[in-house]
Amino acid sequence: MTRVGGTGISGKNPYGPTWTTGTKQAESLGKQVQDELFGKKKPRELDTDDATLTAQLVRLRAFQKKLARLAGDDEDDYAIALAEGTIAMIDARGKVYVGKRFLLTFADALDVQVGVLAHEIGHRPKRWADYKSAAPRTREDLERLCRTEETYADYFAGRALAELGLRVEPLCAFLAAVQEQPHPEYFSAALRVEVIKDGFADGRRKHELRKKMFPELAKRVSAKHDLGNG
Ligand SMILES: [Zn+2]
Repeated sequence: MTRVGGTGISGKNPYGPTWTTGTKQAESLGKQVQDELFGKKKPRELDTDDATLTAQLVRLRAFQKKLARLAGDDEDDYAIALAEGTIAMIDARGKVYVGKRFLLTFADALDVQVGVLAHEIGHRPKRWADYKSAAPRTREDLERLCRTEETYADYFAGRALAELGLRVEPLCAFLAAVQEQPHPEYFSAALRVEVIKDGFADGRRKHELRKKMFPELAKRVSAKHDLGNG
């Protein structure tokens, strides 16, 4: 692997982690996974200069808070930025870059927008900073870990959609459409859809149980009600 010298402000290789080099091998597994999943080149941030985009972002930020709670994190652990040339990606600090074109294309498809955001939040990138373990030995080990991590994120996305009372099918259809090519860090789209649907079934059970046992709590979590600050 060719090491690209640290020319950026952070000195981080913009083309991916350099985990095969000597110094990087000594880093914790958590840091390596963090670099691999969240250390990619960040898309350019854009200003929100029109009312439609602003309204879309406001709505998405309300869901960002609900999703953070569902993931077991604080609302402030995440932020959303409008960006260019991406669907969505999250960095190691919990900032989710949401693509402008994606946001506008799916302006009327809340299930897809929230499902994609839920996947990103489901990665819970800050958590990896505390993950202390030996470094993986091979590229394959790291890729296997990343696939597992993607699976967690997909499962969470399905569960969150159910808990919020949204539909899962639009997200599955979207995923099948965007992930046509095999990728070493992802399972196939067909398998990912299975995982998302498993998560959805799990979330629906929880949602139904909560509705029965704790109707007031269920209302607070539901997509139609604001969570407030409670
Ligand atoms: Zn992911």
